[in-house]
Amino acid sequence: MSNFFIDTHSHMYVSKFNKDRKEAIQRAFDSGVQKIFLPNIDRASIPEMLDLEAEFPDQCYAMMGLHPCSVDKNYEKTLALIEKWLDKRPFCAIGEIGLDYYWSTEFVKEQQEAFRTQCRWAKERDLPIVIHARNSLDDLIKIVAEEKTDNFRGIFHCFGGTLEQAQQIIDLGFLMGIGGVATYKKAGLDKVLPHVDLKHLVLETDAPYLSPVPFRGKRNESSYIPYIAQRVADIKEINIEEVATITTQNALDLFGVEVSA
Ligand SMILES: [Zn+2]
Repeated sequence: MSNFFIDTHSHMYVSKFNKDRKEAIQRAFDSGVQKIFLPNIDRASIPEMLDLEAEFPDQCYAMMGLHPCSVDKNYEKTLALIEKWLDKRPFCAIGEIGLDYYWSTEFVKEQQEAFRTQCRWAKERDLPIVIHARNSLDDLIKIVAEEKTDNFRGIFHCFGGTLEQAQQIIDLGFLMGIGGVATYKKAGLDKVLPHVDLKHLVLETDAPYLSPVPFRGKRNESSYIPYIAQRVADIKEINIEEVATITTQNALDLFGVEVSA
């Protein structure tokens, strides 16, 4: 049993960390977070993300992808740039990609097109995907089912759905990313997680957003992963070491990364 954690979703490269990024990353290591996976957002976030990865090459891993909130009428141009990067060097995953109907429904068609395109790139390159869903989970489950092949795999990041949706995700062979939302009383994950085996779960912060209790409303950071792990342990009435061991292994298996002893 280990007490090592993995943050499968952290944007600690964003400017909110410009003043204390090194210290914040060190706090994550000190709290047992051994690896941090960095989802891309759009064209502008790529250099910042790659800088953070270059600074901590054994702990931080960059993904490449176009976030649905950054899909607009010029999305095909941005996708061409994303594809160029995918051809240029290895990435651990394609992310974050998906559908967001909450902030705007202006480009729903474009979002769906961009999502399918990036799903196909993931399958061609044998990479996992990291999925962002907001008011769109059923549509995403449907598209993933349509795109399903043997090597199509990934994470439904920031999962906050029902038990029925969780079961559909499990049936697709995908994982659920559990973050700070699990610590919010009204979120309802305390009803869902008791029925979901740990082998389908990974942990994430989504830093700087969605801080777990007791930091709710403040800037989130990867060092808060143990608070999320403890909450999952409490909900499932198991110990935190078991949560750490299994979710860490799930993440390493998915991203194809090894931990140095
Ligand atoms: Zn994110």
